[in-house]
Amino acid sequence: MSELDKKKGGAPAPKDWTYAPAPESRDVVHIAERYGHFVGGEWLEPSETYETISPATEETLASVGLGTDEDVDRAVAAARGAFANGWSALPGSERAKYLYRIARILQERSREFAVLESLNGGKPIKESRDVDLPLAAAHFFYYAGWADKLEYAFPNRRPRPVGVAGQIIPWNFPLLMLAWKIAPALACGNTVVLKPSHTTPLTALLFCDVVRQADLPPGVVNIVTGYGSTGAALVRHEDVDKIAFTGSTGVGKWIQRETAGSGKRLTLELGGKAANIVFDDCALDQAIEGIVNGIYFNQGEVCCAGSRLFVQESIYEPLIAKLKQRLTTLRVGDPLDKNTDVGAINSRDQLAKIEELVQSGIDEGAEIYQAPCRLPEQGFWFAPTVFTNVAQSYRIAQEEIFGPVLSVLTFRTPEEAVEKANNTPYGLSAGVWTEKGSRILWMVQRLRAGVVWANTFNRFDPTSPFGGYKESGFGREGGRHGLEGYLRFDE
Ligand code: NAP
Ligand code: MG
Repeated sequence: MSELDKKKGGAPAPKDWTYAPAPESRDVVHIAERYGHFVGGEWLEPSETYETISPATEETLASVGLGTDEDVDRAVAAARGAFANGWSALPGSERAKYLYRIARILQERSREFAVLESLNGGKPIKESRDVDLPLAAAHFFYYAGWADKLEYAFPNRRPRPVGVAGQIIPWNFPLLMLAWKIAPALACGNTVVLKPSHTTPLTALLFCDVVRQADLPPGVVNIVTGYGSTGAALVRHEDVDKIAFTGSTGVGKWIQRETAGSGKRLTLELGGKAANIVFDDCALDQAIEGIVNGIYFNQGEVCCAGSRLFVQESIYEPLIAKLKQRLTTLRVGDPLDKNTDVGAINSRDQLAKIEELVQSGIDEGAEIYQAPCRLPEQGFWFAPTVFTNVAQSYRIAQEEIFGPVLSVLTFRTPEEAVEKANNTPYGLSAGVWTEKGSRILWMVQRLRAGVVWANTFNRFDPTSPFGGYKESGFGREGGRHGLEGYLRFDE
């Protein structure tokens, strides 16, 4: 016992500060053995199915429909019917009521959704509970507010819905991306057919329950599950008026070619390779937290992740020392444990992609540091990683890794920081850490990125538009701008 403990007469201070397991209960969510497609407010029996798993344990969670061209066709027909038979003509104030209802139900059932999101996708429950779910509900609340105010959003123009929207979303934020897509589409009077990623269909399927609970007219929201080929059928379908896609740049380019000349409207939210730029006058401890949040949040499987760290040379050594120290405190493991900071990688394919790119970094001559942690034997895992000694030309500085891997580069002057940061085919986001407000403004004017965070990173708000430059795509989601992709204007 220490002298201090003796004086206080209390229990001795613990010597071991490791965390005891704090698992969230799986019982709050019921997973069916088998799911069909949700079409016209009914479950459509799938002709084929596949199994969706938990990436943390590789256990099978459910059988899910593998959408065929006919399934997509029926879903589009249901959406067209609902569009023509009342939804598009409903007063905005009536559409808003449904959106508010969905938002409230998501809040009421948030624990259930958060557990399912972590089970099926591998992300820490802390994040699905505190980020994905509150933001998904917030998007529905926010766009509910616009539904009866579209004429004020676009004065002197006549906003009209586009029609049937085909929406294709990725696996990194399954429910949140669903909300980003469905909320503005419905607020503007469109109907939708949405295809989730094949690795993470379960929260979208649970959302169908919310759609029913909210009494949304049948056919306004349709969900068809399946692989990329199901998405491709939606892209090609002749009666789809608009495609909204979030995913890889490669698939985005294919969709753009495929829809060219078809008259289909298109918005693309693709990859990124964001620069997180740290000046020597920053609040260093705060910047360390921002760097960690920027690249290890959601295992780095984030399109706007701060995956390229640019450090001003004068603070390079103390910053790297602090960063490595901070990495030792990250807890990697069970996504359902409330203390977990870094969960499982979403799929075997994604893990293989991360491993291949990390190996290329080692082969090209970068120096690797990995947080000391014991990774579970089952499932897909990757330790938080930092690469130093990285040259601009290395693949790990150029290509999107989409994993918990940070590439550190240096700069001397603000001009050099801007030039290096913009030297990428992407342009989705960036971060700037400095005490000087004038320097922040100087930087944001020059950085070619859709979002620039200053003295913070990975902050999202439904009122703020999000989207890219160059190969990061086009169109904006969120904010008033997010309405435009779902409206046409009869002048
Ligand atoms: P992806 O193939 O572009 O997947 C995105 C969505 O598109 C999924 O629903 C996917 O279905 C579907 N899809 C695939 N091929 C399609 C096609 N030909 N036509 C229509 N839809 C199609 O992305 P990924 O393979 O999951 O990930 C690969 C890389 O993309 C990642 O490593 C990362 O660099 C990037 N990515 C970016 C984002 C982002 O938020 N911008 C998100 C995810 C991935 P299936 O998943 O069922 O195949
Ligand atoms: Mg793919």
